[in-house]
Amino acid sequence: MLGGVKLEAGSRVGDTDGMAPTHTDSEVVLNGLDFLERAVADLGQTPPDVKDATLHLFSAIEVLIKAGLIREHWTLVAVKSDGATQAKYDSGDLQTVDPMSAIKRLRDVLGIAVSVQREKDVDAVRMLRNRIAHFAMIGVAPASAAPLLGRGFDFAWWFLGTHIRPGASASDVHAIDNVMADVAVAASKISALVSERMGALEPELSVLEWALNCPRCSQSALCEGAEGPPVCKFCFWSVSGEEGADEYVEESLGISSYLTFKDGGDWPIIDCVAGGDAALVEGVEVVRSVTAGRKGNDYMACFTCGLFEQGAHIERCERCGYACGAAICESCVDYLMAD
Ligand SMILES: [Zn+2]
Ligand SMILES: [Zn+2]
Ligand SMILES: [Zn+2]
Repeated sequence: MLGGVKLEAGSRVGDTDGMAPTHTDSEVVLNGLDFLERAVADLGQTPPDVKDATLHLFSAIEVLIKAGLIREHWTLVAVKSDGATQAKYDSGDLQTVDPMSAIKRLRDVLGIAVSVQREKDVDAVRMLRNRIAHFAMIGVAPASAAPLLGRGFDFAWWFLGTHIRPGASASDVHAIDNVMADVAVAASKISALVSERMGALEPELSVLEWALNCPRCSQSALCEGAEGPPVCKFCFWSVSGEEGADEYVEESLGISSYLTFKDGGDWPIIDCVAGGDAALVEGVEVVRSVTAGRKGNDYMACFTCGLFEQGAHIERCERCGYACGAAICESCVDYLMAD
């Protein structure tokens, strides 16, 4: 057991409450490596302990990101630099930033290029961690969490190799290399777990008329639900209404609402033609189908009622721009008739 460093922001999930005073980024790095080793060990159990693996992996990522900031200066991990004292830092009483803010500081203060995808990978593990901590993993099969854990290990591996290893002492480099090798093995076990489960689902998936990429686990397993919105057969993700539609458009199609509205493009979520709320996504991408030639973006799907139709775009009313499926919408007809 390496010296514990109290570095997690906010909640005290995991066992980071060790109070050994710390001064150097090296101690923090070793602490992060320790969490990472524990996460690998949790996954190595039979059956894999997904819950502890997630808690330890997230702690590892959090601590390693902070080690990157501390290497520049310890005040960079303080929520507020006002009132941040060395004494508080040494005793573990300094209030430190949450990992998503820490990533922003890596970018903005240290100029480290953390891609949007990498940031999303960390956020995915963070959300999985929260679901586990708050809902005790009810109904989540270990394998269904595996893709998210895989993304988290990938982040840890990348960050260690590109931003912690360079500039580390010779003995730290040795420790880092050992852990990176273990992480690489764990990552390959995870991908084996994912393909094993996808293989088990293949008989169900291969007969589907359509399946989309799931925004949560990114597997091609999001398909027609028994009723209502689409359901992921891999991770059971199913979010009804505009919230589900938004998540699909942003995560699976990779379309940013911010950029779309900024650049004045057509946002692909419209009022469902079957009636109901704004949850019909235009241009959903069919990534597998039992019917030959059905793959592609020429479809739309509703995340409220489950309507699925060919055609990537609903006609907009010429007069008001409303996506009504006709050259002119009913309200505009009423308006013109009243004239
Ligand atoms: Zn899924
Ligand atoms: Zn609908
Ligand atoms: Zn109109």
